[in-house]
Amino acid sequence: MHSPSSEPRASVFYTYKIHPYRHSPDRDSGRAGAPVVIVGAGPIGLATAIDLSRFGVASIILDEDLQVSHGSRAIVLTRRSMEILQQLGVAKPFREKGLPWSFGRSFYRGKEVYRMVMPHDQDDRFLPGLNIQQQYIEEYLIDFCTKNPLIDVRWGQKVVAITQTKDAATLRIDTPEGEYDMSADWVIAADGGRSMIRKHLGLRMEGRSYPGNFVIADIKAKIDLPTERLCYFDPAWNPGNNVLVHRQPDDLWRIDFRLPDDETPEQALEPATLSHRINAVLEMIRRKVPWKLDWATVYTANTLTLPQFVHGRIIFTGDAAHLLPIFGVRGCNTGFQDGNNLAWKLAFVVRGWSRPALLDTYSSERVQAAREICEEGGKSTRFMTPPTAGARLMRDAVLSFCLSEEFPKDLLHWRTSRPHDYRLSPLNSFAEADAAFAGGIANGQPVRNVKLGEDDYLLDRLDAGAGFHLIAFAGDGEVSGELGRILTEAAHQPFPVIRVLIGRRADEIYANRAELLIADPQGRIATKYAAQAGTVYVLRPDLHVCARWREGNAADVHRALGIAACSPPA
Ligand SMILES: Cc1cc2nc3c(=O)[nH]c(=O)nc-3n(C[C@H](O)[C@H](O)[C@H](O)COP(=O)(O)OP(=O)(O)OC[C@H]3O[C@@H](n4cnc5c(N)ncnc54)[C@H](O)[C@@H]3O)c2cc1C
Repeated sequence: MHSPSSEPRASVFYTYKIHPYRHSPDRDSGRAGAPVVIVGAGPIGLATAIDLSRFGVASIILDEDLQVSHGSRAIVLTRRSMEILQQLGVAKPFREKGLPWSFGRSFYRGKEVYRMVMPHDQDDRFLPGLNIQQQYIEEYLIDFCTKNPLIDVRWGQKVVAITQTKDAATLRIDTPEGEYDMSADWVIAADGGRSMIRKHLGLRMEGRSYPGNFVIADIKAKIDLPTERLCYFDPAWNPGNNVLVHRQPDDLWRIDFRLPDDETPEQALEPATLSHRINAVLEMIRRKVPWKLDWATVYTANTLTLPQFVHGRIIFTGDAAHLLPIFGVRGCNTGFQDGNNLAWKLAFVVRGWSRPALLDTYSSERVQAAREICEEGGKSTRFMTPPTAGARLMRDAVLSFCLSEEFPKDLLHWRTSRPHDYRLSPLNSFAEADAAFAGGIANGQPVRNVKLGEDDYLLDRLDAGAGFHLIAFAGDGEVSGELGRILTEAAHQPFPVIRVLIGRRADEIYANRAELLIADPQGRIATKYAAQAGTVYVLRPDLHVCARWREGNAADVHRALGIAACSPPA
């Protein structure tokens, strides 16, 4: 019998709330089930459930625990993650709590060798990074799930077995009242890095694990330093190794450092050893202040992914699908992109708007993304923790050069999680029309934001609805006959298409039209999208471009929508 702990976890900054186990009446009828069951109330399972609900799809989330995750895990959300959370309608508490940032500093043997400036332009609503502890990420998402009538979160319910047929899956669930079965048309395995479901299906991940152990320690301390990412190579107190320091809300500081090769995790976590090293870090940053330890662990880096995320009725996402090193804030941020890619596709299949083949593109697009991230994460990891004597020699040579020269400094750039570009996706179409643009947002890329007013951005407007977006540019005159036809016909698709009409004086001259109107008086959106009067973009529901024309026509737009939605034959 599963008996999860109802003792709140200890923390010096966070008050853990217990979500009690509740009897689910449907277990008595022997017919427990939902179209979609999500295993795991981690950040990715929760965000995916909210995303599915935007398309009217109900889900049950099962979690073996009664409280949010323990210790220091994801602490940085990228701009793309914030844009996704905004699209889900949940960004507000994250903005209120998190610490935004865009700079970093790297030091070698006590001297600053690199000032990292993360790309940011005036059209971005969010800075490149937002520091916030995973406990808050989960708490805010749980708050939204709990209020959502389409989401049923069940705590203290541990999935212990899973079987499937061609049409459905059955989960065996252990609870404080004993076991019961639940059926689902689709199961999303968001059960984390140690995924029981992955092991149960006997699936193997591809990739590699890296030598070297790192301590992660979170301390509460009043330190008057700005929110920046600080990296110290070869400090005097930890020769040959490196240290990362990150500020988080609530005066919490994440300190990561590599251990000497001959030291065991148990030795590193001995209170006296840990305390000595934390004091050495504080001395190194010239802030010898009192501190309290919140949590510490030892961590190793992996770049591993499943080669296939969809297995019949079971779909893997987040850490259950891939394990990424912490350098470059990739784990949680990659998972949010997985969930955002999966949710609309699964919703379209469940609602009968698309063929199940659409889900194969979730797998191909996100496996490709995971492989790219493993490659990039591997480079960062090899720089942080050189796997051979030769690699260490090269790394140290680069760092030494950086003391006096500018040219190698770019090698120190901390390549972070980035939005993925689905340029090879089978959902893209009309490649020649795409290639005819000189600029703008190409097929496969995520849309780019444009500032429209004091606290008003293009993506704020596009978040008004869930579905494809058809963006039509009308220039500064009347809507042409063909553009009018494109907009009218898009309203008759069997799935939701949000029609957006952009023009210099859209709010005045098209006031009687049914589309979402966006005025672009200075032509800033048109410039960023390389658009002229008659230009049309088709965006998938996850806001990636899948087709565009300098001058569109209704038949082509209809075809592109059908291809991207994997529509069943008429
Ligand atoms: C020490 C550490 C530091 C990290 N630092 C960073 C960082 O700086 N930046 C970053 O982006 N990422 C970081 N990560 C990674 C980040 O925490 C994960 O990528 C993120 O939590 C993935 O979310 P998830 O929802 O996929 O899985 P998880 O957060 O692991 O959630 C899985 C959920 O499934 C539940 N579950 C598991 N098995 C079962 C079962 N059989 N039945 C029912 N429920 C089950 C668990 O209780 C859990 O709630 C770090 C991870 C670790 C371990």
